[in-house]
Amino acid sequence: MNLQVNSSVHPYSIIIEPGSRKQLYEYIIEQTKKHPTSFLVITDDCVADLYLEEVLNSFPNHIRVETSIVPHGEKAKSFQQYENLLTAALQFKLDRGAMIIALGGGVVGDLAGFVAATYMRGIPFVQVPTTLLAHDSSVGGKVGINHQLGKNMVGAFHQPSLVLYDPELLMTLPEHEWRSGFAEVIKHGFIADKEFLEWLRRNVTSFQHWDMNILSEMIYRSIAVKAKIVEEDEKEAGNRAFLNFGHTLGHAIEAELGYGEITHGEAVAIGMKFALAVSEKVFHVNLNYETYLKMLESLGYDLTIPDVNIHKLLDRMKVDKKSYNQSIRFVLLKEFGNPELIEITEEILLEELSMKKG
Ligand code: NAD
Ligand code: ZN
Repeated sequence: MNLQVNSSVHPYSIIIEPGSRKQLYEYIIEQTKKHPTSFLVITDDCVADLYLEEVLNSFPNHIRVETSIVPHGEKAKSFQQYENLLTAALQFKLDRGAMIIALGGGVVGDLAGFVAATYMRGIPFVQVPTTLLAHDSSVGGKVGINHQLGKNMVGAFHQPSLVLYDPELLMTLPEHEWRSGFAEVIKHGFIADKEFLEWLRRNVTSFQHWDMNILSEMIYRSIAVKAKIVEEDEKEAGNRAFLNFGHTLGHAIEAELGYGEITHGEAVAIGMKFALAVSEKVFHVNLNYETYLKMLESLGYDLTIPDVNIHKLLDRMKVDKKSYNQSIRFVLLKEFGNPELIEITEEILLEELSMKKG
């Protein structure tokens, strides 16, 4: 399956193809029409153990391929790792004709993409996502690292030259990483495609057993939603904010619990449940969303708001980077597929938070 994203910088393909990791080099040459002088594969230690060899074997012997391995997890999106990678690129004497390959989840994609965006003022890079969540992070060109004072606070827009998705790579993902990624999939259904939402309910009943066709189609349809939104709003001036559905509370929960206690998507799932309830209240509609909550629960999600101080959650929502002037901007749904960004009062949120916590 093949999708084209028309970014203003350059169009690029997203290819979703089981087994494609074994022909990575051929895909790069064919799809990007570039002939890089050399490659730097950036990956994390877990992914390296599982897949690095196979990926390296896809390159012919005469092609120069270097590798840099970072520790797994969010901590790798640091100034230290960023600098280490720039040092490695300089030591390898990569020139402006070189290409970076991000082999990994969203962490590696963001970090390696930021190295590509800034090394010698920018060199091309290819995303080879290895998590389900990375179907979201590998598309749209946002790359970056964390600052001690905030997540994703340092970064750039740098579009990949190709996204090559091999769904077979996901078969080694632990259950909570499936939940993390699937929350973004269902989010795309909620904000943009009712029919897809129903399709998900019918076709995704377990994360343990996948039909490759279903998995590929799911990734394809979910990426299509994101690609359309980022094409229309590349620099996040308008509709791209809809992608934050469920994220205002989700981010607050992640931050309040401490990153790593809960995955991003698991927190976003709680945030979506909350945003659905607030939507019904604010728009006086009946969304009939319970069936989707049941689906999420049967897939192992715990949708209850964790036991943290709700005033602290509210304070965090106020400083979420998507809000201005201390009023809280929230993505709500008038109906499935029809999101709206609106400012709501603290009172409504507080009332709803207190209710949900019993
Ligand atoms: P991740 O990259 O840390 O991967 C999660 C864990 O799974 C890691 O320990 C990793 O080693 C392991 N792993 C990766 N692939 C595996 C595989 N195939 N089999 C077994 N284990 C595997 O996390 P993630 O959830 O993929 O991404 C989260 C990051 O993405 C966050 O830093 C977030 O800020 C970022 N993000 C970016 C965007 C964007 O638009 N740029 C969007 C959403 C999220
Ligand atoms: Zn997200």
